[in-house]
Amino acid sequence: MFGWLKRRKRRRIAEQPWPAQWSQVLTLNVRQYRVADEQLRLRWQDVTRIIVAEKYWEGCDGLAINDEIRVTIAAQAAMMVLGVQDFYFDNVRTILIHPAFQRATMRDGMVVEEGRPLAGQAWQGGPVVLSWADVLAGARSNNGGRNLVVHEFAHCLDGLDGEMGGNPVFDNPETAQRWQQVCSREFEQLGRAAIAGRRVLLDHYGASSPAEFFAVASETFFEMPERMQQSMPELFELMVEYFKVNPDVKGWGLRKR
Ligand SMILES: [Zn+2]
Repeated sequence: MFGWLKRRKRRRIAEQPWPAQWSQVLTLNVRQYRVADEQLRLRWQDVTRIIVAEKYWEGCDGLAINDEIRVTIAAQAAMMVLGVQDFYFDNVRTILIHPAFQRATMRDGMVVEEGRPLAGQAWQGGPVVLSWADVLAGARSNNGGRNLVVHEFAHCLDGLDGEMGGNPVFDNPETAQRWQQVCSREFEQLGRAAIAGRRVLLDHYGASSPAEFFAVASETFFEMPERMQQSMPELFELMVEYFKVNPDVKGWGLRKR
């Protein structure tokens, strides 16, 4: 779609009255929204409704899609791009939702979640597949730092360079280089902790590949920012630069726009 047409459509979506029931869904289901201040909430609502409107939502295995499902998922994806101007996961068109966890086989070009119960998938250029039960578990509570929607949409962000390889795109080449250094060090450390069975802040699953490392680190960044800042300050700062928000400060340090 042409950029100007897209922007006009998005403006129209943002001009519609915000449905009161959607606020109820967000305060019930999205933990971070519950404690967000007014300015952050308004930005969050705008991004959420554009994602709701622009994606194709399909229920699988008999799951009937409703506003609660759409809004809960869209708001968590929105959380990841609150700091970014005019980006609404344009590389994701379809979101498939199953009632509960499902199994899938490994295929080329697809990131499947091996080693933990398969709750979601993100395919390069394909749909995001989620289990509603797992979405809710990660959305409503801290869930030990796990957030399925953040995990799968992190794979989608990672894929913007054409490959889900754990190398998110940074505007600044120096930051990209620092990302490489810090991440390879942290990835190795996580691998050693996983082999030794030693619990650390990041889920051991992140040691399975650089792509999973980025997805797991993104979950921790949004779910346990304070702990991440304390125990992995360099990685935390890089995540702040990447997502252009700091979930550990009031109002998330959103730049005025
Ligand atoms: Zn993954």
